[in-house]
Amino acid sequence: MAGGVTTDVKTYSMLINGEFVASKSGKTFPVYDPSTEEVIAQAPEANADDVNRAVAAAKAAFEEGPWATSTAQERGRVLFRLAEKVRQNLTMLAELECRNSGKPIIEAEFDITDVATCFEYYGGLATKVVGYVNPVPDNAMSLSLKEPMGVAGQIIPWNYPLMMAAWKLAPALAAGCTCVLKPAEQTPLTALELAKWLEDVGLPKGVVNVITGFGESCGSPLVKHPDVNKIAFTGSAAVGKIIVKEAADTVKRVTLELGGKSPNIFFADADFEAAIDGALFGVFINQGEVCSAGSRILVQKSIYSKFVEAMAEKAKKIKIGPPLERGTKMGALVSKEQYDRVCSYLEIGKKEGKIAAGGGRAGNFAKGYYVQPTIFYNVDNNARIAREEIFGPVAAVIPFEDEKDAMKIANDTPYGLAAAVWTRDIFKAMRAVKTLRAGIVWVNHMQPTYVEAPWGGYKQSGFGRELGPWGMEEYLETKQVYINLNESPIGWY
Ligand code: NAP
Ligand code: MG
Repeated sequence: MAGGVTTDVKTYSMLINGEFVASKSGKTFPVYDPSTEEVIAQAPEANADDVNRAVAAAKAAFEEGPWATSTAQERGRVLFRLAEKVRQNLTMLAELECRNSGKPIIEAEFDITDVATCFEYYGGLATKVVGYVNPVPDNAMSLSLKEPMGVAGQIIPWNYPLMMAAWKLAPALAAGCTCVLKPAEQTPLTALELAKWLEDVGLPKGVVNVITGFGESCGSPLVKHPDVNKIAFTGSAAVGKIIVKEAADTVKRVTLELGGKSPNIFFADADFEAAIDGALFGVFINQGEVCSAGSRILVQKSIYSKFVEAMAEKAKKIKIGPPLERGTKMGALVSKEQYDRVCSYLEIGKKEGKIAAGGGRAGNFAKGYYVQPTIFYNVDNNARIAREEIFGPVAAVIPFEDEKDAMKIANDTPYGLAAAVWTRDIFKAMRAVKTLRAGIVWVNHMQPTYVEAPWGGYKQSGFGRELGPWGMEEYLETKQVYINLNESPIGWY
């Protein structure tokens, strides 16, 4: 076992069919604090046997349990009560999220508040699902009914652990589905804490199962399981592609929220101070471990040098430190694996561009996966650091000539999750909004995310949308009903 071991290592259980259990094999895996490299907990290592148990519980709960006949009002109230629990336990959850993921405590607090808001939003939306009367000809009535899809397998990443869990659980529960949630191996703890309140808030057993384990031995069997009706996945494009293939045999519904290489575009007429702030915030928030990170910073040539200089000056002042310290604006990367990965890109970047700030390990910490906010400039859009998702605090600043050039570079990427454009010219901004091939476009800001508004990508950033009514739609089937109003025979034969 790598890393030091603290004295208060807690062994967690996972939730299957309303009971807190160990894995069938009895195996556990260590969970780390990436800022100290210490083991802070052990979590059950679920494999296919455990997936089978969890899916069986979710299927039974969907078909036979009280959840099957629950009303939308009841489901809504469950979600409101869950939101309340999260708010009451904000301090504990934020601290745990912070310790386990390495993100600054002030960001973890925002995340946990968003978790509660997400449960509240879908609590309200549960009762807003409506059908449709189809205007068919003939003496008939035709209806479109909305029904829950069934058992949802939900696989999430480590960058916003409990928030990603909420984005998946809340709409699924509002819709009336049952769930098997697999958190990322690095960050299972807050989801396991949330699991402890599910019975209290009135969820029948088996409606939500939380199983912890690894992608290949726990995630993959969930994707292949014939009794799972839908897979909702957030993670890397590489794993997303495997999931689509593995889901094909059982023709599962799949939604994918994958990575990105999102352009953050700065025209010369943008407010300069706001632009510098926006460029830094866009790429360095959450240590750059953000799917929508503005990691390609496109800057008009007339302001390019001044822009890079100002960005670098401010980046060097970003307070990097222990995640639990309130002054910290950038914590540790989530794991050794991610730290090594990001550092390998720093070396690649040094060959592909010039360094304006950062470029290595941060601070004088004896332990912890700290990386400096790093800015490469004079980067070509074909460079690896401009094409591949790094998922760390690394920015590639790319010059452009004019609007046409900017749009061409911005869209020249396999991804299409997000984009942002900064200008005071409303015409230019609106043309960019129309031209950018991305699921989210911000104007004069980057990163605000709201539960009320859709989230998801174009191109290889995935398909399907989370949040808002769109997020719930992905957990609903549409049933067409025809009611004959003639009491006479069809009269064909
Ligand atoms: P990842 O390696 O793709 O893992 C995501 C989840 O999938 C984890 O729970 C992982 O389990 C599981 N998994 C891995 N291999 C699997 C397989 N063969 N079958 C089924 N499940 C499998 O991604 P990550 O490293 O956790 O997160 C970083 C990536 O997520 C980045 O690319 C980022 O852009 C993306 N992301 C996207 C969004 C979005 O909204 N679009 C949000 C956050 C993150 P393990 O934990 O055991 O590996
Ligand atoms: Mg992984």
